Amino acid sequence: MGHIDFHTHAFPDALALRAISSLEVSGNIRAYGEGTIQSLLASMDAAGIEQSVLCSIATRPGQFADILQWSLAIRSDRIIPLPSVHPQDEQLLEHVQLVHAQGFAGIKMHSYYQNYFLDDPALFPLYDILGELGMLLVIHAGYDIAFPRERRADPARIDWITRRWPKLKLIATHVGGWEEWDEVERLLIGRPVYLELSFGADFMPAERLKRLLLAHPQEYLLFGSDSPWTDQKKSLEALRNLDLPQNLFERITSGNARRLLRSLGRHCQS
Ligand SMILES: [Zn+2]
Repeated sequence: MGHIDFHTHAFPDALALRAISSLEVSGNIRAYGEGTIQSLLASMDAAGIEQSVLCSIATRPGQFADILQWSLAIRSDRIIPLPSVHPQDEQLLEHVQLVHAQGFAGIKMHSYYQNYFLDDPALFPLYDILGELGMLLVIHAGYDIAFPRERRADPARIDWITRRWPKLKLIATHVGGWEEWDEVERLLIGRPVYLELSFGADFMPAERLKRLLLAHPQEYLLFGSDSPWTDQKKSLEALRNLDLPQNLFERITSGNARRLLRSLGRHCQS
């Protein structure tokens, strides 16, 4: 079975160049590839990745429809798009239902680019409906490289939300909270919370990452690269270099994602 990358980005061809250059400047980071679907597919081929979950982010409420249309257009046996809703969308819940009705596995949200706090009571109806519909909520977790260090979707908030909404399938990216791994270790490791692993190997010592992974419930770990912000092949190699037990490596890079996506009964082909 091929590998599944649970965290990637790409943009419509006409926007990719501009989007990538402005994100490179704001994050002080270089992109691998051009940020298009074509370059993502080339990267997947080079890395031996069969499927990528493609996370969009609506930075304004009005972007919902365009993102949904584009997500429909690019969906394939290799690309599993997650559309996005904006917290200030006046039709937030209707739009989530529309995403569900179109067969998508879930949505992606980002507390910095969308300017919200994870525990804002205005979002509680959103968590209710996502839980009821069995949809994934992939969130940016922890600080963000491009923003001041203000806690918005930190491990403590993730802990609180996942206890209050046990049915919500929340996936915390960047090993539960970028550059907040002390708190991840204290609050999230060992709990049934999905952790996606991008940036982990780039920002913490290998022994520490390995220790965290070995202490977490095996079925709650998902390989992700955050491509194009890292190289998919290098991300996969960094994970392989941890020398995890082979069956755990297989679960993280393939089995867990496959089972999770299948369990949703959504449009994800294989
Ligand atoms: Zn990302």
